[in-house]
This record gives sequence, structure tokens and C-alpha cells, in this order.
Amino acid sequence: MAYTAIVTGAVQGIGAQIALRLAKDGINVAINCRSAARIENGGNQIAQKCREYGVLAECFAADVSDYDQCSAMVDEVKKKFGRIDFLVNNAGITSDGLLVRMSEDSYDKVIAANQKSVFNMMKLVGSVMMRQKSGRIVNIASVIGIYGNAGQANYAASKAAVIAMTRSVSKELGSRGITVNAVAPGFIETPMTDALTDDQKKAILDRISLRRYGKAEEVAGVVSFLLSEDAAYITGQTIEISGGLSM
Ligand code: NAP
Repeated sequence: MAYTAIVTGAVQGIGAQIALRLAKDGINVAINCRSAARIENGGNQIAQKCREYGVLAECFAADVSDYDQCSAMVDEVKKKFGRIDFLVNNAGITSDGLLVRMSEDSYDKVIAANQKSVFNMMKLVGSVMMRQKSGRIVNIASVIGIYGNAGQANYAASKAAVIAMTRSVSKELGSRGITVNAVAPGFIETPMTDALTDDQKKAILDRISLRRYGKAEEVAGVVSFLLSEDAAYITGQTIEISGGLSM
């Protein structure tokens, strides 16, 4: 029997590499895109690349910060694929600024996209997994949610909450055979980090033990492991993937 995974925000960056890695592992992939336009502009190409590994892959539009859109998407994925074995909550945004200058809107948007989305998807897919009495959830947090960072109070709060939710929900779902873990990437080369200035990038590089930035494929490899049989006895954990970044 082929397993099915939902990966949120899987059009580009880390999410796209996770979708491709899971397809390579032989897992059917439901690729979440923020909108129908994003399916046309990126999603369909990732789905096609996944199908080249011989699995089923399809795009599903939903803004994951919106509970009703998540609910409709989960129903549709269940209808198309029959079951949902794995959930990877990857979608996320930044909207940086020092606290005293940060707008309420910037705070609310980041919390909705990074934190509320994880609540929405874990609640909805968790119910499906509880009925199946099996499942794996991996949440993409960040080292910023552990150590904090000037200019990212909103992002740090959202990712710290994801780590705390991971621990709490792992305690709720463990007795049903469901594992819930998080990964906390450091600096990974993606469109999100492309937005930083050269000076910001250099300052971060100096603090990375391995003296290089991470690759999205390296995050995807750890997610693949956490969804594998080898990780069956790991739950409630957050694994840093940061090359030894010290904050
Ligand atoms: P990215 O290149 O900006 O990709 C993020 C994806 O999430 C985009 O495709 C985006 O869609 C999607 N997304 C955002 N909000 C969404 C929403 N409400 N509904 C549906 N999709 C949504 O970022 P990335 O670097 O790959 O980051 C992926 C995850 O890793 C994020 O959670 C991020 O916080 C985390 N992370 C990244 C790094 C890093 O160094 N890159 C480090 C630590 C943690 P659109 O393209 O349509 O906007």
C-alpha cells in the first residue's frame, strides 16, 4: 500500500524539496499551494516532477491560515487519495522589524500563517489519523523559535508556539500510534533567505560551525527520516538542522 502525505506551502523552497523527496521515497504527495494562481505558477511543475518518480501527485489550493479552506482541502485530499498518512506543516512567512516599529498587522499575519496554520492542519488531519490509528506529523519550526532574533519577535513567537504545540500534541496522539515531531532549520538557501542583504548573510555565516548555508534538500532528508519506520520511536522532539549555528 502506498502512503499519502500532505505538504503545505510546497511550491518552492524547502516545501518543494520535501514534496520531491517524499515522491522519491515512493509516497503519494498532496501539494498545498496558497491559491489556484500558485498552482498554475509553480505547483503544477512540482507535481509533474513528483509524478516522474511513479507516485500520485496533485496540487490543492488553500490558504492554510484559514480553517475553512484547510477543512475543504483535507476533505478533497481524503476523497482523492483515500487516506492521509503523513502531514508536513511547512508553509510560513516572515515580516521582520524591530518590536517598537512592528505593526499589529505584521504580527497577526505571521502568527496566522506560521502558527494558526499548524493548529488548523494538525486538528483536521489529526482526526483522520486517529481514525486510522496511525500517522506521522512533522512541523517545520526554526532555530529562531528556540534562541530568538532581533527583528523577528513575531516570527520567533510563531515558531516557539509550533515547538510547544508539537510537544503537547505528541502527548495527545501518542496512544493512537501517531508521532509528532518538529525540525528547526537554521539558515537554508531559499527564496525566503534570498531577501536578506549580503551583510546580514555574512554575519550569519560567521556564526555557523560548518561555515556554509544549508540546502533545502538537507531539511527534506531529515523530514523523510522522521516519516520513516526508523523513526517510529521518536515523538515530541525538535531536531535542529543548522550546521551548528550559534545565536
Ligand atoms: P519560502 O521559499 O518563502 O516558501 C514558503 C512557502 O510557503 C511559499 O511557497 C508560500 O507560498 C507558502 N505559504 C506561505 N504562507 C502560506 C499560506 N498561508 N498558505 C499556503 N501557503 C503559504 O520559504 P522557505 O525558506 O522554503 O521556508 C519554508 C518553511 O521553513 C517556513 O515555515 C519557514 O519559516 C521555515 N524555515 C526556513 C528557514 C530558511 O532559512 N529558509 C529557516 C528556518 C525555518 P507563496 O509562494 O504563494 O507565497
